[in-house]
Amino acid sequence: MKRLFVLFAVVAATSFFCVAIALAATQNNSAAALNDGTMPALSAIAGQGMMDSHAYQFLGELSDDIGARVTGSPQCNAAVQWGLQGMRVLGLQNVHAEPWQIFRGWTRISAAAAIISPTPHKLMIDSMGWVGSTPQGGVDAEVVPVNGYQLDQELAQNSGNWNGKVLLVVQKGTPPEDSMANFAKFGLFLIKAHDVGAVAVIGGQGGAKSEGMHLTHTGALGFATSYDIPVVSMSAEDQDLLERFLHRGKSVRLHIDVQNRFTDGPVDTANVVGEIPGTEHPEQIIVVGGHLDSWDLSEGSTDNGMGTSTTLGAAEAIVRSGFKPRRTIRFVLFTGEEEGLLGSIAYVKTHKDEMKNHVAAVILDNGQGPVTALNMGGRADLLSAVDPFVAMLSAFGKITANDDTEFGTDTGPFIMQGLPGINLDQDSPEYRYTHHSNVDSFDKINEAVLDRDATVQALVAFWIADRPERLASPWPAEKTAQMLVEKHDDVFLKLFNLWPFGNMGQQK
Ligand SMILES: [Zn+2]
Repeated sequence: MKRLFVLFAVVAATSFFCVAIALAATQNNSAAALNDGTMPALSAIAGQGMMDSHAYQFLGELSDDIGARVTGSPQCNAAVQWGLQGMRVLGLQNVHAEPWQIFRGWTRISAAAAIISPTPHKLMIDSMGWVGSTPQGGVDAEVVPVNGYQLDQELAQNSGNWNGKVLLVVQKGTPPEDSMANFAKFGLFLIKAHDVGAVAVIGGQGGAKSEGMHLTHTGALGFATSYDIPVVSMSAEDQDLLERFLHRGKSVRLHIDVQNRFTDGPVDTANVVGEIPGTEHPEQIIVVGGHLDSWDLSEGSTDNGMGTSTTLGAAEAIVRSGFKPRRTIRFVLFTGEEEGLLGSIAYVKTHKDEMKNHVAAVILDNGQGPVTALNMGGRADLLSAVDPFVAMLSAFGKITANDDTEFGTDTGPFIMQGLPGINLDQDSPEYRYTHHSNVDSFDKINEAVLDRDATVQALVAFWIADRPERLASPWPAEKTAQMLVEKHDDVFLKLFNLWPFGNMGQQK
C-alpha cells in the first residue's frame, strides 16, 4: 500500500512537471515568432500555401508537357521560357533570364548491350551523362573486373591488361573512408582507362551499383567534366549476373553499343530569376530556389521538378498573402545543376559585387518527401536564431535545424561564399530509386507533401527576409575555409579543383 502510494506520488509529480514544461515550451515557441512581428504574415502565407496552391499543377506541366530537361537541350530552353512565363503570371517583378554557358553540350542517342558468352542475355544499360561512344555498331569485348574501392592499386597493377576490354567496376573489401574523394579518383581512372584502350566502363556515379529492381541511374561523373570513354549504368540484377560468372572463373564476352553526341563548343543556357522586392532593405537578398534542369531517362519530377515547383509555389503563397517582406526575396530556377552546380556557380559569378548583400539561399532538392531539417551550411552561429523559428513549424511535422553542409546541390556555391546555403533536407526514402532513373515521373509526387514543402520553403524565406534583424552576412574567406576544413569538405573540394581558398583554414 505504501509502496503504491509512493509510486503514485512520483507519477503525479512527474506528470505535473511535464505539463509545466510543455506549457513553458509552448509559450517560448510562439513568443519567438510573435516577438519579431512576422507572425501575421507567416500565418497568411501558410494559409495560402496549404489551402490554395498550384504547385502540383506547375509540376504536372513541367513534367508532362515539357519533359526531360538536360542542360543546353531544346527542352531545357523550353523550360526556361516556361519558368519566365510562370513567374510573370505569379506577379513577380524584375523577371528575367540570366544567360550563362555550359562548357560543352551533350545528347544521349542509344545504349544497348548483351552477353554473347557464356549464356546469351540482354543487358539493361544506359549511358552516364557527358561521356563518349563506342565505335558505330558497337564492339565485342571481354569483361574484366576492376575494384572501385582500390583504384590506385588497379591502375598501378592491372591497367596493362585493359586494352580492348570492357571494365566492370565491382566493389570489394572495405569502402574508402571519403566517398567523395573516391568519386574524384574515379575521373582519373576513366581518363587512364581510355588512354590504355579500354572500350567501355560499366559503373554508375563513382562506380556505384544501381539501386532498385532493374533500374539504371544516369548522372555526371564530376563537376563540369566530360570523358571520352563510354561509361554505363547497368541494372543491379544484370551486373550481379556478370559478377557471378567472373566469380566462377568464366570468361564473359559482351556486345556493347553506346552512342552519344557532344557539341563542338560551349552551349547557351540560362537561370530564371524573379523577385519580390523588399520594402525596407531592397538591396538585401534572400535567394529561394531549386534546379530546373534534369536528367533524361524520365521527366525529372522528383529531381528536381519538386524544387522547381516548390519555389514557384512559395512565390505564389507569398504574393497572394498580400504581405511584403522587408528584404528582397529572389526566386531562382537554376540550370546546369546536374553537371556540377554550374548554374548556381554562374549565379554567384554574375552577382559577385552583390554577394555582400546576400543573406541566405534556401534550396530544395532532396526528392519527394516532407522537409525534416534545415541544414544551415556550416553556419552554426545562426542556430540560436533559427531554432525557435523551426520549433514553430511543428504543424508541418518535426523540423529541426543543424549546421550540416550540403555540396550535392545548389547550396554549395553559396556556402563557399560564407553564406548560409540552407538545404531543406527531406525524408525521401524512395528518392534513391527515382532520381536519375527512368521512374522519375509525375506519379511519384504526393500533392499534399508538395504543397507542404512549398509552404515551408515560403515560410523560411519570408521569415529570413522580414525579421527586423538581418539573419546573416557572408563570412570572410578565412573563416569559411576554416569551417570547411573542420568539416573535412576541403578534401573533395580540392580534388575536384573547387577550392578557392589556397592555404587558408589550415591553422586554427
Ligand atoms: Zn537534383
